[in-house]
Amino acid sequence: MSLTLFKGIQFYAPKQYSFPYFARKHVASYCSVKNLQNQTEKQLQGPPKNNPKRLDNILKDYEAIIGIETHVQLSTHTKAFCSCPYTYGAIPNTNICPVCVGLPGALPVLNSKVIESAVKVSLALNCKLSMTSKFDRKQYFYPDLPKGYQISQFDIPIATGGYLDLDIPVELGGGHRRFGITRVHMEEDAGKLLHTGNKSYSQVDLNRAGVPLLEIVSEPDMRTGIEAAEYASELQRLVRYLGVSNGNMQEGSLRCDVNISVRPIGQLEFGTKVEIKNLNSFSSMSRAIDFEISRQVILHDQGQGDQIVQETRLWEEGGQKTITMRKKEGLSDYRYFPEPDLPGVSITDNYVDRIYKSLPELPEMKRRRYEKMGLSMQDVLFLAND
Ligand SMILES: [Zn+2]
Repeated sequence: MSLTLFKGIQFYAPKQYSFPYFARKHVASYCSVKNLQNQTEKQLQGPPKNNPKRLDNILKDYEAIIGIETHVQLSTHTKAFCSCPYTYGAIPNTNICPVCVGLPGALPVLNSKVIESAVKVSLALNCKLSMTSKFDRKQYFYPDLPKGYQISQFDIPIATGGYLDLDIPVELGGGHRRFGITRVHMEEDAGKLLHTGNKSYSQVDLNRAGVPLLEIVSEPDMRTGIEAAEYASELQRLVRYLGVSNGNMQEGSLRCDVNISVRPIGQLEFGTKVEIKNLNSFSSMSRAIDFEISRQVILHDQGQGDQIVQETRLWEEGGQKTITMRKKEGLSDYRYFPEPDLPGVSITDNYVDRIYKSLPELPEMKRRRYEKMGLSMQDVLFLAND
């Protein structure tokens, strides 16, 4: 009903959505990127390239604690709460409707395939499923989110408490690892800002708004850039085996935000954690983490540990360094509350059993099967990656 109210509105003229009034000078006032970056240049010490021996010695005294939040874009035919399709690379603002653009009165309807994919991934990650969960509104303001809130899951996610097994390739040190999974929850994606022209203004493409995502939060179980990159690589393999996502990092179908803190070896208390975004390959993830560990350890070593603040940093591929993006919001800043336009999500044992029986052989099972056949770990990993 609400949809028909807006039937007369023309959505397919990209120029209507160029939002020239989101000029960069205004955007800057929302997040003060420029000021923070200036501040960072002073703070940033970076790994001392001319004295690697000394850095190695310092690193030996510290331990890094790494946790990863991964957003997996689900390859469902339609978006999470409306019937718009999503095609990567489509002409901006051609796959949108009143629901995903958030026009007043438009009501979301949950795509059941999102639940099915979430249950598949949760089972594959050995998680405990919530038979009853719900959606919540996470409020924040940004030009790529016209609704002013994102539909997500807050206190009752679809699944919690699982783990992911993987084998580190022999050339990277080898060994079997098990990393804990804190939670898996469903949410929708936001649109995308395009900083074009002479960079004096930005345009917004809302095709991606409302595309279903799974957020997979790991326990802070990784200790090195290699472990973190191997974890992300195993997640990519898993979602591809399950057929729920193409897992393509370059297209943004698999996005990893990494939380890093360091502490002197033997100390139980965690250090201040810093988040790194903008990691679009496994190798950049590994390099960004190693850079950030060095940056934090050097600050500690120089007695400037208090300069490590809870913030979000960006990986700069060109400069091979992390820079400050913004100071981190607290959970309370989002003013979560239950989404009033969607009913709760209930799943039954029969539904879960049916999905469990439909799961394919997963990478870990395949590796163990090949291992039992007497293949070398190098061959096992090669075949399981295929
Ligand atoms: Zn839509």
